[in-house]
Amino acid sequence: MNTVNTINELREQVRAWKAEGLTIGLCPTMGYLHEGHASLMDASVKSCDRTVASVFVNPIQFGPNEDLATYPRDFESDCKLLEAHGVDLVFHPEPAEMYADDFCTFVDIDVLSKTLCGKTRPIHFRGVCTVITKLLNTVTPDKIFFGQKDAQQLAIIRRMVRDLNFNVEVIGCPIVREADGLAKSSRNTYLNPDERRAARILSRAVRLGQSIADEGERSSETLLAAMREKLASEPMADVEYVEVVNGENMQPVDTFREGDLVAMAVRIGGTRLIDNFTVGQPPIEFQEGQSNAD
Ligand code: AMP
Repeated sequence: MNTVNTINELREQVRAWKAEGLTIGLCPTMGYLHEGHASLMDASVKSCDRTVASVFVNPIQFGPNEDLATYPRDFESDCKLLEAHGVDLVFHPEPAEMYADDFCTFVDIDVLSKTLCGKTRPIHFRGVCTVITKLLNTVTPDKIFFGQKDAQQLAIIRRMVRDLNFNVEVIGCPIVREADGLAKSSRNTYLNPDERRAARILSRAVRLGQSIADEGERSSETLLAAMREKLASEPMADVEYVEVVNGENMQPVDTFREGDLVAMAVRIGGTRLIDNFTVGQPPIEFQEGQSNAD
């Protein structure tokens, strides 16, 4: 596995592969990798001749009061994981390589970025769309891989690719969870043991929501009331939002149907966690644990 730090080196490698007629998969990440990220690598390695992973904590997608400075980083351990999963090339640039001092061009997406996480993170998706555009322009991959864990991000990238005619197939990969149901996330490392236990409430709420939807309920209000009650049963949970939105345009729906998205953001202690399910997906499975959240 090779590591490169500059756009030019990345382009050079891509050019050589393309000259050989090889297909390329791209998996963008911010590092501190876990099995959720690895599932993207596995999907890419399986369906593309070469896989590029980027490890870059993208400063422009963090708001002023967010965790850019403290975001966990461990590049050495990331490389071990990437190598073990068959990644061919890691792109690990410094911020200055991506953003010149006078950088002032952004890709902004309307409508889809205004709901859910966009309400409290107003510049987040602009930062994501801009960095993904830069990566797409450099790597020109056949496929790009994203996790369903960040469902709004996935929907936004799909729309950006369609709207701006990027010649790439967007692949969404299922959420990978811990044994007790918590969606794997680099930010889980912020949780102390009590918070970690309390964090189970998100997946419990997902499972409850799924069972209610599977029983045939179609009113968002009814579904959300039950999920909110579940979340409220955990004293450490501070709910930012739980919403039902159309799976493509991310706009709230009163009556939901298959393909719609039920998404939440919940703070546990100081840590903001997200989880979601798509209506009609098979129920999530996890082991029961001993906690108030069950
Ligand atoms: P991040 O490093 O948090 O920006 O995530 C990089 C990519 O990995 C994104 O497409 C995420 O949606 C995906 N990802 C992160 N956690 C998980 C997970 N638990 N399951 C599936 N995909 C994930």
